[in-house]
Amino acid sequence: MHSTKVGDAKLNAPHTGATRIVITEFMDEPAVAQLANVFDTVYNPALVDDRPTLLAMLGNVDALIVRNRTKVDLALLAAAPKLRVVGRLGVGLDNIDVAACAARGIDVFPATGANAGAVAEYVIGTAMALLREAYTRSAETAAGAWPRAALSNGREIAGKTLGLIGFGGIGQLTARLAQALGVNVIAYDPMLASDAPIWHQSGVACRQLRVVLEQADIVSLHVPLTAETRNLIDAEALSKMKPDAVLINTSRGEIVDEAAVASALHAGKLGGAAIDVFAQEPLAAGNALANAPRVILTPHIAGVTTESNTRVSALIAQRVAAYLQQN
Ligand code: NAD
Repeated sequence: MHSTKVGDAKLNAPHTGATRIVITEFMDEPAVAQLANVFDTVYNPALVDDRPTLLAMLGNVDALIVRNRTKVDLALLAAAPKLRVVGRLGVGLDNIDVAACAARGIDVFPATGANAGAVAEYVIGTAMALLREAYTRSAETAAGAWPRAALSNGREIAGKTLGLIGFGGIGQLTARLAQALGVNVIAYDPMLASDAPIWHQSGVACRQLRVVLEQADIVSLHVPLTAETRNLIDAEALSKMKPDAVLINTSRGEIVDEAAVASALHAGKLGGAAIDVFAQEPLAAGNALANAPRVILTPHIAGVTTESNTRVSALIAQRVAAYLQQN
């Protein structure tokens, strides 16, 4: 178990007594060092998998920094009576009981925008790989086989229609990358008025969900996990999609019915799927997607790159430090 107690120098710390920060998941080391220069900082990315130890050490903690796996729920909050701020090294807040935090006056800071570029590139990269279908037989080619005929019917992304479900930060950035490749972009986002300036500014057409599903060659999900979005892409939604369309889920696993996606792929009613997020992570044995054809499965890394780690960690370190020094 990697466990580091980093520094306890309290330069500039305005509080009497130690201001304590606990970081429970991976954080870029330079950002950890910045915090440790000012606050009493415990950085132990194994804490996420050792909840009893985590809860036992929260008694005097002022700030908690987590990724997506640490459950900041009522039990954790009860174990952390002094907690004032939670930094989230990422964007989705579904692992954090935001309402309970608000009721206790605990501020929650996500790293909004800092990993959007990584997710947008993942969407474009996987869309191109799934449409082209040409990059899966490297080993055969290396071994002297020549599957040229089988790989000669791949599709180009130019001229296709990308349908975004959710048109916030990541959806908008993905649209810009896609448009640069000659892709037509349409989007469904009921929280954005149909006359909101972003539609005109972005050149993205505002459409109803049914229209996006029916018209898109690539459907990509960019919504938070909420009661409305849970199971949004179920068997019925999949049945509205073109049989050769590809589905990309970088949002949250619970937004798609994984078994229905696997069935559609097996039945040839879906062209392919890139799935980065799952209802259960890591996948349980027997997950229907594991043996489905034409899939790219990745372990929740769409937003995680060398560059985004640096940006996300620096942003959260700066926001948490500023909050602790001002409150
Ligand atoms: P955002 O808040 O900027 O945008 C979300 C958009 O979804 C908003 O415009 C909102 O109006 C819209 N929305 C809400 N409910 C909707 C509904 N029922 N139907 C359609 N649209 C709806 O968030 P973002 O930064 O674009 O991130 C989107 C999601 O991506 C996050 O919530 C997170 O779960 C996920 N994410 C995953 C990774 C990863 O590594 N896989 C990285 C970053 C973010």
